[in-house]
Amino acid sequence: MKSIYISEDLEAIRASARDFVEREVVPNVEQWETDRKVPREILDQMGKLGFFSLRIPEEYEGLGLGHVASVVFAEEMGRCTAGGTAITPIVHTDLASPYVTNFGTPEQKARWLPKFASGEMITAIGVTEADAGSDVQAIRTAAVRDGDGWRINGSKMFITNGGFADVVFVAAKTNTDVKGSRGISIIAVEHDTPGFTSQQIEKMGWHSSDTAQLFFDDVWVPADNLIGEEGRGFYYIMNNFQNERLAVMGLALGEAQKAIELTLEYVKERKTFGQPLWEHQAIRQRLAMRQAEVDAGRELAYRCAWLMDQEIDAVREVSELKAFVGELENRVMYDCVQFHGGMGFAAESTIERMYRDARISSIGGGATEIMLDYAAKRL
Ligand SMILES: Cc1cc2nc3c(=O)[nH]c(=O)nc-3n(C[C@H](O)[C@H](O)[C@H](O)COP(=O)(O)OP(=O)(O)OC[C@H]3O[C@@H](n4cnc5c(N)ncnc54)[C@H](O)[C@@H]3O)c2cc1C
Repeated sequence: MKSIYISEDLEAIRASARDFVEREVVPNVEQWETDRKVPREILDQMGKLGFFSLRIPEEYEGLGLGHVASVVFAEEMGRCTAGGTAITPIVHTDLASPYVTNFGTPEQKARWLPKFASGEMITAIGVTEADAGSDVQAIRTAAVRDGDGWRINGSKMFITNGGFADVVFVAAKTNTDVKGSRGISIIAVEHDTPGFTSQQIEKMGWHSSDTAQLFFDDVWVPADNLIGEEGRGFYYIMNNFQNERLAVMGLALGEAQKAIELTLEYVKERKTFGQPLWEHQAIRQRLAMRQAEVDAGRELAYRCAWLMDQEIDAVREVSELKAFVGELENRVMYDCVQFHGGMGFAAESTIERMYRDARISSIGGGATEIMLDYAAKRL
């Protein structure tokens, strides 16, 4: 459906992303799920085609586009039928690299942004720990000054792209004397830094996504790897969570839309009692309701993006979006599996994978309960 928020230029970007996803991604996702990774070559291709430069400022070899562009790209990635593949570039473009774009010093921007735009370097963001997920302030990974640098000790949990990313932005306590949020900073740790290791985590879904536990054992990085200002990390994280939630819900909406389309095809073919499933009102009406909800979710997503592009506070709207669409995607997948009958339950069918992959939408990047509390406080 057309949206008033999307310009012709963005429609052209959408068309090129859709074409790329259909030609280069969809035919390969099953293999990548088995391999438990997305090959680096596909990310190189995406970089060359300009998909990583949408949000990078023009002065650093990007296109300097806004939040609406992020939703367009995320929706198209979501249509690839494997959430683990779809999230891989989105973490780079919308969850991790914005720490430099938005909060980095001019030197850090010049050093990294052109490489992020081209795909020469892929990024990850490491906030969550085994004992600190929703409660970011509870992180324990610590960085202390050591000579002209920082020495980091601790670990991170569930970090997307964590095993292969060229640089991870790590949330660490740089001041343990102050309580809560004030002592947290963001520090860039490059992949081959001594003492930095990772281990992949097996999951229910998102099999092609590299989700890793990260370990920092006396890791030393130079002082200028500290992103922005010391002690401002919690503010940076909360600020970028808005962008993150918007992008991952763009992904969720693309996934939900694709699942409805696949199910429409199926129910128009599959016959019971002498007629296609589509002819049974119970089925087509439920699909129509789910489509209506996805349409509503999309409008909210683009409205959030537009508000953020105008620099209008949209914490309430983004929290509502994350809560609403995170749950909606799961309802959509439930019904889509249901209408595929036994085929929907067959291991490794496309819709079975999409059902498993969707489960993370209401958990990752701000679980529904937390998002509803954010929204409730702003009612
Ligand atoms: C596949 C995957 C990829 C991820 N990628 C990344 C990544 O790249 N970088 C990163 O930093 N993190 C990442 N995460 C972490 C993710 O953001 C967290 O899992 C999420 O924020 C929830 O934190 P938690 O798992 O610690 O759950 P908890 O915080 O322990 O919460 C458990 C449950 O309790 C609920 N709950 C918690 N507090 C309250 C409350 N006060 N009131 C009511 N209910 C509450 C939550 O909503 C949730 O349902 C990833 C996670 C997964 C599974």
